[in-house]
Amino acid sequence: MTKTAFIGLGNMGAPMARNMAKAGCDLVLFDLRVDVCSALANELNVASAAGLDDAAKAADIIITMLPNADIVAAALFGPGADCLADGLEAGNIVVDMSSSYPATTQATGKRLADLGVAMLDAPVSGGTKKAVSGELAIMLGGDDEAALETATPVLETMGRIFRTGPLGSGHALKALNNFLSATGLAAASEALIVGQKFGLDRGTMIDVINSSTGRNNSTESKFHSLILDDNFASGFALDLMAKDLRAASQLAGELGLEVPILKQASEMWSKADEQLASGADHTEIYKYLEDNAI
Ligand code: NAD
Repeated sequence: MTKTAFIGLGNMGAPMARNMAKAGCDLVLFDLRVDVCSALANELNVASAAGLDDAAKAADIIITMLPNADIVAAALFGPGADCLADGLEAGNIVVDMSSSYPATTQATGKRLADLGVAMLDAPVSGGTKKAVSGELAIMLGGDDEAALETATPVLETMGRIFRTGPLGSGHALKALNNFLSATGLAAASEALIVGQKFGLDRGTMIDVINSSTGRNNSTESKFHSLILDDNFASGFALDLMAKDLRAASQLAGELGLEVPILKQASEMWSKADEQLASGADHTEIYKYLEDNAI
């Protein structure tokens, strides 16, 4: 079986690696948080690597599940002393499952191709719940048919694969999906803020909206359990969502398109990221909008 290195064992990476191990994948783990990495390796009875270089040396497929495209590029090529490129060999496959910038992914893919290494992008949707249940939507992009075929059984242990086109297409679709997700959440938040001021009960509003045409994923799965219950612990940070909107907005700019809703949504989420405490959950956009509505 193909040996796979899994880099980035955070809210998403840890449950994804668990499902890979459960399915019998031959794994080596790495995260900058050494304690988290060795605890998970012990739990799953798999290897952990001493660094990025070692992780790449030990594997045929290298999966990254990191916060953003710049961190992925730095993990691959430095400037730090320890990087994946030092351990890569021709014939290896790098699969970036992070939500990254399509243009950065395409540039990274070219650098890897010079080393004889194929790159695929395979960002995911479904949040921590579907990462745990192994039911993620996986948006798989790439140009190398043999690499796509080799990676498919490994990726299938984490969810359902949707082939999206050439390298970068998965990252483009993921950014656009999160534009819709973020906008649905923000718009529903504003509807509740206005309704509450008018005297409507927020719980009643969500119940009615969920039986009406205004419903969306956030009204159905986030408002009762995360926002109205003051829980705000979805496992998806607001800075990551703001980054995804910037990716979608940047993509539109690169294509020369004027898209006012996307532009405004991206600016608003980035402002919220600046205003809210570091580490805020993305559902705290509700608090930001509520505070700024008055
Ligand atoms: P996270 O912050 O919980 O985890 C990131 C992990 O990467 C951490 O454990 C961190 O220590 C590690 N890390 C950072 N830099 C590293 C490096 N150079 N080398 C090794 N490890 C490093 O983030 P997350 O929520 O798991 O998200 C990961 C990616 O998945 C992001 O791109 C995010 O946008 C995307 N995503 C998240 C969700 C979600 O619900 N959380 C859903 C879909 C997609």
